[in-house]
Amino acid sequence: MTRSAFDYVDGVLHAEGVSAASLAEQFGTPLYVYSRAALTEAWNAYASACAGRRATVHVAVKANSNLAVLNVFARLGAGFDIVSGGELARVLAAGGKAENTVFSGVGKHADEMRQALAAGVKCFNVESIPELDRLNAVAAEMGKKAPVSLRVNPDVDAKTHPYISTGLKSNKFGVAFEDARATYRAAAAMTHLDVVGIDCHIGSQITEVAPYLDAVDKVLELVDQIEQDGVKIRHIDVGGGLGITYDDETPPEIGDFVRTVLDRIEACGHGHREVYFEPGRSLVGNAGVLLTRVEFLKPGAEKNFAIVDAAMTDLARPAMYEAYHAIEAVVKRDVPAHVYDVVGPVCESGDWLGRERLLAVEPGDLLAIRSAGAYGFVMSSNYNTRPRAAEVMVDGTQAYVVRAREEVKQLFAGETILPA
Ligand SMILES: *Cc1c(COP(=O)(O)O)cnc(C)c1O
Repeated sequence: MTRSAFDYVDGVLHAEGVSAASLAEQFGTPLYVYSRAALTEAWNAYASACAGRRATVHVAVKANSNLAVLNVFARLGAGFDIVSGGELARVLAAGGKAENTVFSGVGKHADEMRQALAAGVKCFNVESIPELDRLNAVAAEMGKKAPVSLRVNPDVDAKTHPYISTGLKSNKFGVAFEDARATYRAAAAMTHLDVVGIDCHIGSQITEVAPYLDAVDKVLELVDQIEQDGVKIRHIDVGGGLGITYDDETPPEIGDFVRTVLDRIEACGHGHREVYFEPGRSLVGNAGVLLTRVEFLKPGAEKNFAIVDAAMTDLARPAMYEAYHAIEAVVKRDVPAHVYDVVGPVCESGDWLGRERLLAVEPGDLLAIRSAGAYGFVMSSNYNTRPRAAEVMVDGTQAYVVRAREEVKQLFAGETILPA
């Protein structure tokens, strides 16, 4: 990204042309803020590298499924990658098209398969023989043929956090490499399935291109074998997973990454096939921040704590993966700086957002937690009966509430007590 959509102007953090301090004032905290320009810029990096090539980009909905975010991508002509019937409903509500949507995920329910077949999704990315059987049965019952791709597990090390590495033999995902050929033969023999492609997804927050090239080489080797068995493979889906800069990581530029992968596929003699990408984090991660207010400063013998109004319920990544997010004061102030652990109000020691951060803040000040656009709001919960944060999208000098802050009464609206 040339110039961040989130930058300081006269010592105050801005989202595009809007002061983050005024957003917090107007909409309260904790508050997710997205930048339309940053979403668009990331999309364009993928789209321009794919222009003139046989390549299509499907936005991984799970990274950020807010309707306004999906709609920004839909207006730019994006396809989508979903992992549930709920996500399909969101894509359609946001103006996306089923025929540009691929359905991933390791445990699809029969109802979700029915919903997706009725809507006419482009492809089911299937991960096991029992899932093929179920899809074949559902398609037969509906008198349809389901387009399928098999997710193969290339057994490569994506060199990322173990919880977000998905392409190793020890992961639950995909068909084992050794079983792939036989599984394709089984799929081809099922009368209500139409084998159209092959896919893989080796992990997330990958900051090197080498694991992708290793995966591509292995997948292409399989494609040759599968076609020898008389099964045609029209597209190769290389998954998502490209990393972003949270701290000092140096992932490849989106355009360089796309071109390197496409060039490799072409060089291996597979340039006539359509290539799909399924990026999530690299499209939305740096297009969002989480604003939070300092409630108390709590100095201690061993540690100082900055207790803020956001929590692991708003941003789970630090608690879940010990993930790093840069944290900065929204307004640069001339007060003494101290090292703080930034923690939330939830009753868990795991409720932290940043550790050992040098911050010049006082109670009541605002902090911005950066790179919160991916796996941020979507992973939020109501633990401790905390209403989920509001989400705002900035477009130039305008700010729009794209999800209202939850109210406590909504949180137990579906609950009932036993009769007297
Ligand atoms: C999560 C996921 C993605 C997106 O991953 P990112 O790391 O966010 O790019 C793409 N495809 C599949 C199958 C996924 O599960």
